[in-house]
Amino acid sequence: MRILIVEDDLLIQKAIQSGLKSKDYAVDCISDGEEARYAPRDISYDCILLDLGLPSVDGITLLREWRTASVKTPVIVITARDGLDDRVLGLDVGADDYVVKPFDLEELLARIRAVTRRITPVTEVSSFSNGILTLKPDTHSVAVKTEDGSEKIESLTSREYALLESLLRRPGAVLSREALEDKVYSFGEEVESNAIEFIIHNLRKKVGSENIKNVRGVGWKVVKQN
Ligand code: CA
Repeated sequence: MRILIVEDDLLIQKAIQSGLKSKDYAVDCISDGEEARYAPRDISYDCILLDLGLPSVDGITLLREWRTASVKTPVIVITARDGLDDRVLGLDVGADDYVVKPFDLEELLARIRAVTRRITPVTEVSSFSNGILTLKPDTHSVAVKTEDGSEKIESLTSREYALLESLLRRPGAVLSREALEDKVYSFGEEVESNAIEFIIHNLRKKVGSENIKNVRGVGWKVVKQN
């Protein structure tokens, strides 16, 4: 999953960033309101954490603009303890939730999970599975159902996990290399041209090459079970 943090307090920004990265989210950070204006239209983030008091363009204005432009990305507003009006206003203009500073990482993670689950269609919610491959978030592994009906568990690196999660979010849908790079890497991270192929190669060794299909010239998919 890829998260955008819009926060001008660099201490808070870095703390959230390192916390999320330790949980294998790809994270981009922006400190200035103006810079954040088009970010969610350029990249499809899974969630945005939005501070309201920002230089040049404030968070409420940004949020209003995004929603007017049909940006549906879940937004969690970050507010100060005394900012009750801000919270209400934030929710009114389209925020999905809010956290009050100072908050702890576990609370934030729980809220991110909740808002991202909410926008995933119900049929796909059940723990990222296509009936053959099932992600296990708590152990960072994948359960692979074998032909004899038994299950083997393979542990995954954070990149492998992020990539497989993107595919299992929409079984049957083909994701391009660019789309996968967007989900697995943050802004400014050096991405080797064959990085995605390399991750896929290793993933296939773990889950079986028949379970991640290449669609020549288009991308990759996991099969959709009926
Ligand atoms: Ca601020």
